[in-house]
Amino acid sequence: MTADAYLVLRCDADDETETDGRCCAEGSWPVRFEPHTHQHLRRLLKERRGWRRTRDGRDLCPDHASDDQPAA
Ligand SMILES: [Zn+2]
Repeated sequence: MTADAYLVLRCDADDETETDGRCCAEGSWPVRFEPHTHQHLRRLLKERRGWRRTRDGRDLCPDHASDDQPAA
């Protein structure tokens, strides 16, 4: 039994200030509260934390979610 399991989603945005060139933001949610799949986690992060999933399948943290908007 795992008392405190967390699902984690990492931001896929490029970030040149990070050592590995990738944003290190992570969105997580304690499994005991709600999500049991990454799909569910994505929905929760989107609805409550401002995360975004792009059409090409990348996950973006709130800081990067707006970077990737198509030009209006
Ligand atoms: Zn990010």
